Amino acid sequence: MSVSDAALVLFSGGQDSTVCLAWALERFARVETVGFDYRQRHAVELMVRPRIRERLPAIAERWAPRLGDDHLIRIDALADISETALTRDVAIEISASGLPTTFVPGRNLIFLSFAGALAYRRGIRHLVAGMCETDFSGYPDCRDDTIKAMQVALTLGLDRRLTIHTPLMWIDKAGTFALAQSIGGEQLIDLLLAETHTCYFGDREHRHDWGFGCGECPACRLRAEGFAKWKAAS
Ligand code: ZN
Repeated sequence: MSVSDAALVLFSGGQDSTVCLAWALERFARVETVGFDYRQRHAVELMVRPRIRERLPAIAERWAPRLGDDHLIRIDALADISETALTRDVAIEISASGLPTTFVPGRNLIFLSFAGALAYRRGIRHLVAGMCETDFSGYPDCRDDTIKAMQVALTLGLDRRLTIHTPLMWIDKAGTFALAQSIGGEQLIDLLLAETHTCYFGDREHRHDWGFGCGECPACRLRAEGFAKWKAAS
């Protein structure tokens, strides 16, 4: 990896992908972003993306010339084949399989495939994504082995070396806050709390010390617990 390389960040507008974007801006000469619109219930994520991209360059001067184009890819077919809480109006609860009903089967495989194709077209050899194995939910498509298998599949299928970076793979939410502070200090923490979105219900009305959200859904609880743990340790 050299500083002249470009990277494509899978950027949803959530806390994790925003930290990944800052991580990439610190390392790559050109950083582009891609978001996916699959009629998700928490579409507010997509709305906060431009604002986050707008504010990031103010945190570190060197980031401004590196932040490149943003891409939004619509994947209606993903919504069509999903019977889950993110795309259908059903209660968010743990299903019999032990996975949250927010789980869209293989979603990250589909995202990475689209991102790989886009990266190829843009002459980019590095993907950066916020998958995390320490996450509470145990999504199988977030596992390190899954991501490594996708890296091999994309590299072979595109006939071009593609590296998938997952800076959050082995850290928890408290670790994500700590990483954010080490990259962008208090300014990045403030940006995460004020602008990023995680809540499954798209709640932007209730502001807590850890940011906006309903405070009740699994994503809000995870973020609140991570913030409290990080605060207690710092
Ligand atoms: Zn919530």
